[in-house]
Amino acid sequence: MRIIRDAAELRAATQGWKSQGERIALVPTMGYLHDGHLALVARARQLAPRVITTIFVNPTQFAPHEDLGRYPRDEAGDIAKLEAAGCDLLFAPGVPTVYPPGFATSITMRGPAEGLEGTHRPQMFGGVALVCTRLFGLCAADVAVFGEKDWQQVMVVRQVARDLALPLEIETVPTIRAPDGLALSSRNAYLDAAGRQQATALHAALEHAAARLRAGATAAEACGEAEARLREAGFRQVDYVALRRARDFGEMTRLEEAGRVLGAAWLGQVRLIDNLPV
Ligand code: AMP
Repeated sequence: MRIIRDAAELRAATQGWKSQGERIALVPTMGYLHDGHLALVARARQLAPRVITTIFVNPTQFAPHEDLGRYPRDEAGDIAKLEAAGCDLLFAPGVPTVYPPGFATSITMRGPAEGLEGTHRPQMFGGVALVCTRLFGLCAADVAVFGEKDWQQVMVVRQVARDLALPLEIETVPTIRAPDGLALSSRNAYLDAAGRQQATALHAALEHAAARLRAGATAAEACGEAEARLREAGFRQVDYVALRRARDFGEMTRLEEAGRVLGAAWLGQVRLIDNLPV
């Protein structure tokens, strides 16, 4: 696997592949890789002969009080995992490569960027849309692969790709979970042993809401019960449990068509998110 940090070197590599007619699949990540990320790499390998994984902890999607400075990192471990997964190229740029001096563009989004994560982390999706658009261009990606773990993010990325006519496809991979149901996440590293046990309640609460919705409960009832279960399980704050339409992220008061039940809650200082199809 090649490891590249420089934009010109990356361009030379991608142009070489393109001149051979080889398509490029991209897996954008913030590193500290786990089996969820590696499932994206495996999917990328099915989609294109060349796979680029990026590791970049993107400062434009973090608010000043958030965990940018302490986000977990293990580049040597990540490299070993990507080598074993058959990734062709790791692009691990520094901030000035992604946002060079004089960089002047920002992205403001409505639609799927509003509500839920967009309410609780107002800066995030503009930053996600910006870094993804930039990485798609830098990597000359024909297809990019994202995890359903961050389902609202998938909706945002699809929207920005459509709105800006970006010449690539967006593919998704279902959430990879620990045997007890907890969605794998780099931020799970923040949990202590007790927190790790309590954390399974998030998935369980969303399963409960999904079952209640399927049985005909209103979104208010089903999501309210899930929030109560989270508090009982020791979550100190529930940012939201909500039902959305799968198709367009619109609100539904009941399960009228395929939907997604999403939740975000705090265990101590650790914020966890998850979602399920319903
Ligand atoms: P991150 O490094 O957390 O920014 O995630 C990079 C990509 O991996 C995003 O598309 C995530 O949705 C995806 N991802 C993270 N955790 C999981 C998981 N447990 N299962 C599937 N995809 C995941």
